[in-house]
Amino acid sequence: MSRKDWKNTFALLGSLAGKHTDVLVSLVLLSVFQAVRPFVAVILTGTLVDAVYADASLETLFGYAAAGVGGICLMSAAEGVFTMFFNRKLEYMQEIQGLPLNRKSMAMDYEYLEDVEVHGKRQRIEKFGGWSLLALVLSILNKLIVAAVTVIMAVCVVMPMFVRSNHGVSQGFVGSWLMSVLFLAVILLLVWLEFRAGGYFNGRVAEARKQISGYEARSKYYLDILSGHEKQKDLRVCKQQRLYQKEFGDIALHMKKGVDKMAHFYALDMFTQQSASALTGFLVYVFAGTLACVGIISIGNVVTYAASILKFTDAVGKMAYLLNHLKGYAVFAGDYVEYMNLPQRKHEGAIPVEKRRDGKFSVEFDHVSFRYPGSETDVLKDLNLKFEIGEKMAIVGKNGSGKTTFIKLLCRLYDVTEGCIKVNGIDIRKYNYAEYCDLFAVVFQDFQVFSFPLGENVASGSDVDVKRAEEALERAGLGERYRRLKEGLNTSIGKEFEENGVTFSGGEKQKTAIARAIYKDAPFVIMDEPTAALDPESECEVYAGFDKMVGNKTSIYISHRLASCRFCQDILVFDQGKVIQRGSHEELERQNGLYRELWEAQAQYYA
Ligand code: ADP
Repeated sequence: MSRKDWKNTFALLGSLAGKHTDVLVSLVLLSVFQAVRPFVAVILTGTLVDAVYADASLETLFGYAAAGVGGICLMSAAEGVFTMFFNRKLEYMQEIQGLPLNRKSMAMDYEYLEDVEVHGKRQRIEKFGGWSLLALVLSILNKLIVAAVTVIMAVCVVMPMFVRSNHGVSQGFVGSWLMSVLFLAVILLLVWLEFRAGGYFNGRVAEARKQISGYEARSKYYLDILSGHEKQKDLRVCKQQRLYQKEFGDIALHMKKGVDKMAHFYALDMFTQQSASALTGFLVYVFAGTLACVGIISIGNVVTYAASILKFTDAVGKMAYLLNHLKGYAVFAGDYVEYMNLPQRKHEGAIPVEKRRDGKFSVEFDHVSFRYPGSETDVLKDLNLKFEIGEKMAIVGKNGSGKTTFIKLLCRLYDVTEGCIKVNGIDIRKYNYAEYCDLFAVVFQDFQVFSFPLGENVASGSDVDVKRAEEALERAGLGERYRRLKEGLNTSIGKEFEENGVTFSGGEKQKTAIARAIYKDAPFVIMDEPTAALDPESECEVYAGFDKMVGNKTSIYISHRLASCRFCQDILVFDQGKVIQRGSHEELERQNGLYRELWEAQAQYYA
């Protein structure tokens, strides 16, 4: 384990400290009891053997046995209590495993959600479900502490065998210090070899495991696609099955190679360990037996010392294995720690957003340029524009001209690369982020309607104001459909969790998203291609009802269909990240520019 590995592992454990310190304390106590208990049995056996050889009375033998067994029972009981406490806590933590991760992913800067590296981290962590990774690390730590305490106990128990000059027996070479040192050196050499070999083989296993983890993530991705009927539509119609089969075949092949490699090194590790153990056992019994034969130690001591030395070598071997195992997980611990520590820059601003009764807000884009993280080209270029609250503004332009990006910047999903955006004259980065978000109700192109009850979808929470939700649904054009729902606002959207759930069409889902924006009652209403999934009749309904829908709020309406923006007095024409024209429909139509070009091109289809 490198220093970084330890640092990450302790940082992962540190996420427990504070809230769950009791888990760590019970883990340590549990491990100590687990390590010490077997030594009581070992010492008891040796003591009993010696007592039998010394013709001790039955009462004495009984007394030893009762004391030893009583001690073991007490320790087992304490161990049981700690195990129960520890497992119960761990079980609970696994139940809520996604919670800290999800909290983080909801709070982190939006741009990280699109970052391939961050996404990779999340996938690797999810393989263990966050807390499950912690559970794995804790269980390894438990075994490591047991092994470490076993080593200490074994050294303490066996020490007298090497410090026996006061036995007053003629020792010869067998009992000499030189012999003891030689024996110790051979044992330690064997242990060291076992440790090194274990480290090497387990390192290879960890390498192979890491290699296949990438393929596991891909396999999970394909399984997710194939598990849902929605996602299989394209696959079936476009006959992409063969592509997936080939992908799966490749993945299976790589996984098999990786698993074969792991099995190979596991077997080698096992073989080395068993051989070293057998050889150590042989040497220990020969040495201790010889010492007993020449009268330096008792027969009971042979039992105690031999068992202790074997426990020592076994514990050291296990430590090598466990440390490598821990090292394998330290990579994931690093992912977890780095993921949880990703900066939340958007939360740095502290200025409260002015709560204006008149709802007057002014927005200014001041020399704003923006490029997406990891990209080399500016998507918005030196954008300068102002607008006031209460205005209805439309943004038109070809696909890819930067319309949605403009909205993402205004809503602070991303921060500008250059320049600044001001609301009421203040750089939006200085505002309290949560309060700033309250200013906007947005229906994105790729809006999401979730498998929750309709009311919760509209209210974005479980606290639903029925009257307000019904009014929002009505204004969004979903009133009639809503009245036909037997369970009303409690109707589940989708059948994922409820058999009686209702499957909404694309248009109905879009109207639900519009109702959510209306329900929020924010000063800014932004609709990005809000009619894309609607039939022409519903589209007309949305245009006609738009004024009613947004009232006197600032509304930004984005569409590549120019006809849908005609009702706005202020139309911005985007082209390649710049606003190249601005004005009313009539003004723009008169100008010889992109707007007229697009208008004429589209008019052909509507003629
Ligand atoms: P519009 O809404 O006008 O269709 P967008 O604002 O969505 O255009 O996109 C503008 C440009 O930014 C496009 O070239 C698009 O490929 C690019 N783009 C959009 N989202 C991302 C992203 N997350 N990462 C990198 N480039 C992006």
